[in-house]
Amino acid sequence: MDTPQLALLALLIGVLLGGSVALVVGAAYRARDLAMVHASNDVPDGARDVLAGLDDPAVIVDPSGTVVAASIPAGAYGLAEGRTLPTEELALLARAARAGTATAPVTMRLQRRPSDQRAVSVRVRAITSRLILMVLRDVTEQERVEQMRRDFVANTSHELKTPVGAVVLLAEAVESAADDPAQVRAFAQRLHAEAVRLGTLTTRIMSLSRLQSEEPATMRDIAVDELIVAAIEAHSTSADAAGVELRRGGERGVHVHGDPQALGEAVDNLVANAVAYSPRGSHVGLGVKSQDGVVEISVADQGIGIAEADQERVFERFYRADQARSRRTGGTGLGLAIVKHAVQRHGGEVRLWSRPGQGSTFTIRLPLAVPGPDHDEAEDRKTKKKSKKKTARKDTTA
Ligand code: ADP
Repeated sequence: MDTPQLALLALLIGVLLGGSVALVVGAAYRARDLAMVHASNDVPDGARDVLAGLDDPAVIVDPSGTVVAASIPAGAYGLAEGRTLPTEELALLARAARAGTATAPVTMRLQRRPSDQRAVSVRVRAITSRLILMVLRDVTEQERVEQMRRDFVANTSHELKTPVGAVVLLAEAVESAADDPAQVRAFAQRLHAEAVRLGTLTTRIMSLSRLQSEEPATMRDIAVDELIVAAIEAHSTSADAAGVELRRGGERGVHVHGDPQALGEAVDNLVANAVAYSPRGSHVGLGVKSQDGVVEISVADQGIGIAEADQERVFERFYRADQARSRRTGGTGLGLAIVKHAVQRHGGEVRLWSRPGQGSTFTIRLPLAVPGPDHDEAEDRKTKKKSKKKTARKDTTA
């Protein structure tokens, strides 16, 4: 090997050695920086950006339990940068995470505002030897729905037990009174009434669970007149029998967009109640008004009214302000819950004005729909016919 070649080789070895040394030194610096971050309370690069992009409350806490970085929603739960964790339970969880003993999410209560206690599921993870990331998920709504579902199942079984028990007893009574035709007739009549009650209860339970499910409904433009006419037709027989006059007033020709079955049932339930809770000789008015993009369908009676304390609660499932009367009139305690859910599903609300002894007015408020040029009037008429047929069927079962 001659001298220039030797020089070239030496240069190459020198470059390789120099490069390796630079790499080793660079890695050592990075390891030192990382170790410093681990041993310090400095939030690792990028962590703040991640927190800023989170929709859930999340914080990074140091060993003293002080929040060193927080997502925007965390503030509402009393978790803000520079503040210590608001509860001992959270502090304990952070310590457990640091000790490496906490992995599974833990559900706990946190006070959001003095009157607003929230259920949150908290996940913790150590991101350095000193810093803990805590991510919270608000599960209040989930818990409430779960509780409602449990209550519904318990109440439904309880409500079904009464008529089912009555049917069994009455069937036994019919059997043992076989030799007495008058008694058999009386028991058979009561048996029929209990069977109808059971049928109504089952139908309403199914309506309510359909309204509460995510199942998409068939939506179309509906003429409000169609809902009013169907409700009046469905209740004219029972209103006549109760000596209550049904009157119609207000605007004609307004439309809403929605599920005709659900909205029809809502108006129907209001009229059924108005008749059931009204005295003989009174009248029930059905009115329609549209204003500022909202359609109001009101059902006003001159009946027994509802005490102020009960006015919110009557929309709860199985709540009856007047237990005895509701049972006497074959009430299920589900009618108004169905109205509320049906209307809310359409982006509307139900309002109630009532005064004991004077009467009640229930008002359904729904967004006004302006039917497009392709709106099918023939479809309106078809559904009206269908609802007439349904009404006739209802009357024969009532
Ligand atoms: P029900 O089938 O028992 O009528 P609802 O859910 O329809 O059940 O109504 C709940 C309760 O609200 C009724 O039991 C009754 O006490 C009260 N209520 C409903 N509508 C009226 C009304 N128009 N006038 C007086 N009380 C009413």
